[in-house]
Amino acid sequence: MDLYEYQAKDIFDAYGVPVVTGVVCTTPEEARKAAESVGVFPVVVKAQVKIGGRGKAGGVKLAWSADEAEGWARQILGMDIKGHTVYSVLVAAGVDIAEEYYFSILLDRAERCDIVLCSKEGGMDIETLAKERPEALARVSLDPAIGINPEVARAILGEAGFDAEETEAIAPVIVDLWKVYQGEDATLVEVNPLVKATDGKIIALDGKISLDDNASFRHEAHAALADRRSDDALEVAAQEAGLNYVRLEGEVGIIGNGAGLVMSTLDVVAMAGEPYDVRPANFLDIGGGASAEVMAKGLGVILHDQQVQSVFVNVFGGITACDEVARGIIGALEILGDEATKPIVVRLDGNSVEEGREILGQAGHPLVTMVDTMDAAAAAAAEFAAVTLGREDAKVTVTIDIEAEGK
Ligand code: GDP
Ligand code: MN
Repeated sequence: MDLYEYQAKDIFDAYGVPVVTGVVCTTPEEARKAAESVGVFPVVVKAQVKIGGRGKAGGVKLAWSADEAEGWARQILGMDIKGHTVYSVLVAAGVDIAEEYYFSILLDRAERCDIVLCSKEGGMDIETLAKERPEALARVSLDPAIGINPEVARAILGEAGFDAEETEAIAPVIVDLWKVYQGEDATLVEVNPLVKATDGKIIALDGKISLDDNASFRHEAHAALADRRSDDALEVAAQEAGLNYVRLEGEVGIIGNGAGLVMSTLDVVAMAGEPYDVRPANFLDIGGGASAEVMAKGLGVILHDQQVQSVFVNVFGGITACDEVARGIIGALEILGDEATKPIVVRLDGNSVEEGREILGQAGHPLVTMVDTMDAAAAAAAEFAAVTLGREDAKVTVTIDIEAEGK
C-alpha cells in the first residue's frame, strides 16, 4: 500500500524525522481556514495524490495570503494528475529552501537487500538524475543486521559528496528514516526533496512510503491508512469477493486454479499475443475448491474490465474435478446472463477431464470455445482479442467442433 504525503509525514513525525505537518483540506474554504491558522506566509498548497511529479503538474503552489491559498485549493482540488484525481490538498507552512537533496531507502529485489539512494541534487525526477548524471547519485547496499546506524549514515553521506558539516546535520535524520523503514515494514521510504532550510534546519519536505502488505498483520494501525477512492475499482471488488486478483494492462482476461498455473498461463498468453500486441489483462487464481459462485465472481470481475476482449479459463482438475469446474462455468454464465459478452476459451485437463468436457459440450454456450491444450487455448484467446481489436493479420485459427470430437 502506498501512502499519501501527509500520511507519510505523520509517520515521519512520530519517528522524530523533522517535517512541516499541515492541515488536510477537501474544500477551498477549509484551505482558507487552514492558511489562516498557519498564520505565517507563504503557505504551501499541495495536491495529495499517490504519484510523483505533482510540482511539475501544477499541484504544488505557494500562497502569500489566505485568499490565495483558497484560490489555489479551488484550482488543485479535482485536478487530474497522471490519472489520479485530487481529493484533498495539504496546507502547510512554507519553507525557505537553501538546498534540495534526495534520499530514499528501498527493497531491491534483484539484489535481495535494502538499498539507499542519496544525492545532493534533489527536487528533480530521480529517474532522470540516475540516467543523466549517475555519478551524482550514491547507491549503497545495506547490511540487514545493521541497517543505518550513525556510522553507516556518515558513510552514505560521504559517498554522496556531503561535507563534514552537512553530514553531521543530516546523519541523524537518515538514521530515523531507517527506523521508519524498519519499524513500519516499508518497502520504500523516499524523501524528495530533503531540504536544508535557509536557517540550516534539515527538513523532509516531501514524503513517500510504500508499506509491505504482507506485514499488515503486525501493524493494526495501517488498515486506517487505506483509501479506497484511489485504489483500482476492480481490485477492490475482487478483494471484497475474496479473490486473488491483480489487474494488469492487457486485453486477455485470465482465470486459473493455483497460483503456479496462473503464472505460467500469463507467460503463455503473453507469448501467444506478442505478434498482435495483445497481453494478459490480469492475474486471477480461484484456488483449489472453486465453486460456481467463485467462478461467477471471477468471471464477473474480469468481464467488467473495459480492456478485456477475451477470457482464458485454464483449469487443471485436482481435488476439484473438471466436471465440477465445468458446472461452475455454466453456472457462472447463467448468473452473469447478459453481462457475459466476451468470448471465453476454456482448457480443462486433469481429474475427470472427459466428464468436464462433456458437460461444456452439451451446454453448447455460444461464448465458450473448448481447446484441449494450454498453448492452443492461449493462442485462441489471444486471437479472439486481436480480432476484436482489429489488429493486423489477426484471425481466429481454432475451430473445434465439440460434437464432432464426441467430447
Ligand atoms: P512532487 O513534485 O510531487 O515531488 O512534490 P514536492 O513536495 O517534492 O514539491 C515539489 C517542489 O515544490 C519541491 O521540490 C520544492 O522546490 C517546491 N516546494 C514544495 N514545498 C515547498 C515549500 O514549502 N517552500 C518552497 N519554497 N518550495 C516548496
Ligand atoms: Mn517530491
